[in-house]
Amino acid sequence: MRYSRYLLTTLKETPADAEIASHQLMLRAGMIRKVAAGIYNYLPFGLRAIRKVEQIVREEMERAGALEILMPMVVPAELWQESGRWEQYGRELLRLQDRKDTGFCLGPTHEEVVTDVVRNTVRSYRQLPLNLYQIQTKFRDEIRPRFGLMRGREFIMKDAYSFDLDEAEADMAYEKMFQAYRRIFERCGLKFRAVEADTGNIGGSSSHEFMVLAESGEDAIVSCDLCAYAANVEKAELLPASMAASKPAEALRRVATPGQRSVEEITSFLGITPQQLVKTLILQTDEGESVAVLLRGDRELNAIKLCRLLGCSEVSLADEEVVQRETGAPSGFAGPVGLRLRLLADHEVAAMADFVAGANAEDTHYLGVNLQRDVVLENFADLRLAGAGDPCPRCEGRLESWRGIEVGHVFKLGTKYSEALGATVLDDQGRERVLFMGCYGIGIGRTVASAIEQNHDKNGIVFPLPIAPFQVLITVVNPKEQDVMQAAEVLYGELQALEVEVLLDDRDERPGSKFKDADLLGIPLRLTVGSRGLKEQAVELQRRSNGERSLLPLAEAASQLAGIVRQALS
Ligand code: ATP
Ligand code: MG
Repeated sequence: MRYSRYLLTTLKETPADAEIASHQLMLRAGMIRKVAAGIYNYLPFGLRAIRKVEQIVREEMERAGALEILMPMVVPAELWQESGRWEQYGRELLRLQDRKDTGFCLGPTHEEVVTDVVRNTVRSYRQLPLNLYQIQTKFRDEIRPRFGLMRGREFIMKDAYSFDLDEAEADMAYEKMFQAYRRIFERCGLKFRAVEADTGNIGGSSSHEFMVLAESGEDAIVSCDLCAYAANVEKAELLPASMAASKPAEALRRVATPGQRSVEEITSFLGITPQQLVKTLILQTDEGESVAVLLRGDRELNAIKLCRLLGCSEVSLADEEVVQRETGAPSGFAGPVGLRLRLLADHEVAAMADFVAGANAEDTHYLGVNLQRDVVLENFADLRLAGAGDPCPRCEGRLESWRGIEVGHVFKLGTKYSEALGATVLDDQGRERVLFMGCYGIGIGRTVASAIEQNHDKNGIVFPLPIAPFQVLITVVNPKEQDVMQAAEVLYGELQALEVEVLLDDRDERPGSKFKDADLLGIPLRLTVGSRGLKEQAVELQRRSNGERSLLPLAEAASQLAGIVRQALS
C-alpha cells in the first residue's frame, strides 16, 4: 500500500475524551473514529488489525474443529421469550419493533439463536460433538460505554457454542476451547492469565475469563503466589477464618460519636484501627428485600457472592429512608445489636471480639460488642472481596492482586438453553437426550485495544507483529530524489512478491514528521531508504519494539525481512 493513496489521518494532539492509552492511540493513529457513544467506524488501518485478530481466531477455531456460521444480528423476541431472558436481561438488551409491531432485539449474545439452529438441524448423536462459531457484530446498550473499542455498545465478537451428548463430552469440548484460547492470545502477543470467573446472566456451572494484564483494566483479579489458583475477585473464594473466636473480655457499652459516620471518622475519633470495627451495611435486593451484612471495617462487600447466597440478581445500598425505617437511625449508625433485620456476617467477623459497631441510634456507637453474647445472627458466609495478602483457598500460599482486561470468556452451560428450547438428539439406543452446551466468546476489538494497551510507549503503538496492520514500513526519506524513490519502489515490489505486508511512505513530507508518524503507527519493522545509505548500497532496518538499528545490504534486504516476518509468525 502506498501511503500517498491511503486514508491514514494521524493526529498530533491527544483527543480530550480518550482516557486510556489504547483509546488515545487508536484515534491518533487513524484506526477508528467515533460515530456515537460506544459506536465506531473502523478506518482502513484499524480494520486491518481487526482482520488480523479475526484470522488468528478463525484458524484456531478451525483447528479445534469448530464450524463457522453466521447468525442474524436482529433476533426475534420469541426466541428470547422461550429461554426466559427477554424479561431477565435488563436494559443492555436493545429491544425494537418492526412495522407489524413484532418484537425483536439486537443480539448481545446468541445462545438462543444457535440452540434454535441446532434443534432444527441436528437429530442424531452421530452428528456430535458439534461446535458452531461466528464472528459478528453484537450490540449491548452498556450504561457506561468507554475506552473506545474496549467497552463499546456495538462491537465485534467471536462467539462459539458447543453441543454434546453428555457432561463428560461437554467438559472435553470446554477443555478444547480453553486450549484454543490460550493459543489465540499467545499468537496475538498478549500477556494474559486464565482466571476462574462468575457466570453472570449467561448462566451455567463454571467459567473462566482470559485476562490481559494491564493497569487500566476494569477487572480486579487475584492469583496465588504458590499454586496455579487465579480468579476474578468477583469469584475468588475466601475460606472461613481458621482462628477461633476470641473470648469476650469487655462489657457492652454505649459511646457518643456525634457526626462520626464513616469508618475513617469513627476510627480516628475513637483512636482504634478499622480491624477493631465492624461495619453494618443495610442493603436492598432487586426484589425489595432488606438485609444487613457485617464486614470488618477495612473490607469491601462482594455483591456477587451475596446475590448468589440470596438468590437475587442485584443488591444495592439502601437509601436513607429505608435505613431510617430499618435501624431507627440515620445512615452511619447501623449496628447488629438489637437489629431486627435479616443479618449475615462475613466469616472473618466470627474471629472478632470486643469490637466497635453502630448502636442504631443517632450519634451513638457500641464498644465491646461480641456476636455470641450480644447479637442474633442468621449465618456466617463468604461475603467480602478478596485482595492482596489473603490466604489462597487451595494451598498455603498468599494471594496477589492484579488489574485485568477480560478479552475472552468460556462457560459450561449445562442444559439451561437446550432444555428451555427443546434441543435434543436420539442416542444409540434411540432415546431422546437433552444436549449439553458450552459457550465461548472473544471480543475482537477489545483484543486489539488490549494489545495496544500492553504494547505502546510515549511515542506511539508498538504492534506485536502477528496483529500489526502492516509488517513493514518503508520510509522514503526524500521521494523527490529519483534514485532514492526508485530503490524504494524496487524494495516495495520485492517485499510484495514475498507476500510481506508493506506500507510505502512515499509522501512528500519532512522526514521528521514521517518518522514521528512511523513511531505512532507502530509497524514492527521499519526500513529507511535515503541517499546516504544508498551510497553504500544499504538500507537501515529499525525495530519498533526496541529501537535496534542495523544496516542491510540493499540487494538482500527484502529476503532478510521476509525471513524475519516468517520467523515471527511461526
Ligand atoms: P464485561 O464484564 O467486560 O462487560 P461480559 O462478561 O459482559 O464482559 P461476555 O458476555 O462474556 O462479556 O462477552 C464475551 C467477550 O466479549 C468478552 O470477553 C469481551 O472480550 C467482549 N465484550 C463484552 N462486552 C463488550 C463491550 N461492551 N465492548 C467490547 N467487547 C466486549
Ligand atoms: Mg458485560
